[in-house]
Amino acid sequence: MSDFDTVLHPDFLVPMMPRRQILTGHSVAVRAGLITAILPTPDAKAADAREHIELPGCALMPGLVNLHCHAAMSLLRGYADDLSLMTWLQRYIWPTESHFISPEFVRDGSELAIADLLMGGTTTLADQYFFPEVTAEAVDRSGLRALLTFPVIDVETAWARDAESCINRGLALRDQYRDHDRIDVGFGPHSTYMVSEGTLSRVAMLAEELDAPIQIHLHETREEVLASVERSGVRPIDFLEQVGLLGPRTQCVHMTALGEQDIETVATHGAHVVHCPRSNLKLGSGICPVQKLLDRGINVALGTDGAASNNRLNMLSELQTASLIGKSQHGDPKAVDAWTALEMATLHGAAALGLLDQLGSVEVGKAADLIALDLSGLQYLPRHDLASSLVYATSGNEVQWSWVAGKPLVRAGVLQTLDYTDLAARAGRWSEQLGAFRQTLES
Ligand SMILES: [Zn+2]
Repeated sequence: MSDFDTVLHPDFLVPMMPRRQILTGHSVAVRAGLITAILPTPDAKAADAREHIELPGCALMPGLVNLHCHAAMSLLRGYADDLSLMTWLQRYIWPTESHFISPEFVRDGSELAIADLLMGGTTTLADQYFFPEVTAEAVDRSGLRALLTFPVIDVETAWARDAESCINRGLALRDQYRDHDRIDVGFGPHSTYMVSEGTLSRVAMLAEELDAPIQIHLHETREEVLASVERSGVRPIDFLEQVGLLGPRTQCVHMTALGEQDIETVATHGAHVVHCPRSNLKLGSGICPVQKLLDRGINVALGTDGAASNNRLNMLSELQTASLIGKSQHGDPKAVDAWTALEMATLHGAAALGLLDQLGSVEVGKAADLIALDLSGLQYLPRHDLASSLVYATSGNEVQWSWVAGKPLVRAGVLQTLDYTDLAARAGRWSEQLGAFRQTLES
């Protein structure tokens, strides 16, 4: 038997831990899904391994953690653009979802998304959508790693009759995947405006009992905050605190329109924030004050949100946008610097999932969730600062290899577990059906 399954020989290694370092002349050895050694390349080349993979011109780094997505909504990419959040939801997204949502829609949309995610360097996904059991199967088949937060809302959907039925179905799914090594299942109460106080309290109680993660849309727009004050007398973040849903298991998605007190509340409870800059920009929703939160010691991760409001699912684009918009928002070019953006997409995502001991950096003992980016093009030269190139010079199409638990899911630019031609054919069929339905919404 060989000492290692695979040994990877990149030109550059971006381990993320120790922080802010780039190594040259180092190789990474993988065995049984784990990173087992980081060796000087000459020693590594002499090692006994089933496969040695040369990665000339490539930077090897931890796979990216996309902490907020609605994978199946990739079928709605470009379906309704340039609209405010509520018009977008009420006039287009919700009527279309209530007409089309089915296991087939979720399977095809999720697989299209997973292919896109893997090609863009995401190796861990946190998703929230109806029929999460179908997304779980797609994730399982594809080899991706994921947290599926099952939706909890009070209104009837094709997936569940009411909130109680959402919870029952979700908990059954959590049971089903209890021992799975790549899939976890948590709670996804949609928002404080779509879920009643009683349901939110119940979710808080159950999540605590089960030590399960919770992901919720929160403070997405200024209007959401104002409406909450009008409805309940308190801001959404305070409402969440009152029902006991704010804690170190909670991932608060979006978090714009924050006052000093809101930031204090998040920090006090140790909740995580998920910044989705491109979705916020596209929907004109407001911007999360990332650097301010980081300075207060709050963990801020990154997500793409669904393709219907982005329209990419590409974490390199997302971290680039997070850095650029952070500087503009704070009026300070030092805000959200290149390394901070890279940390948000790796270490911070892992921390929000409670998986920092397994993911987010290239360290011995962690999972071999890795990506290799081809940085041999002229647009990355000269190499004054590789982190700067990764954040400011990438287009999002640089990922040539993605591994999850040591298994290559993208190999030299080619998807290994999903079929591009088949995905394109299915997307084409949905495009016809959805396009015809959209015409009825507009007439
Ligand atoms: Zn969302």
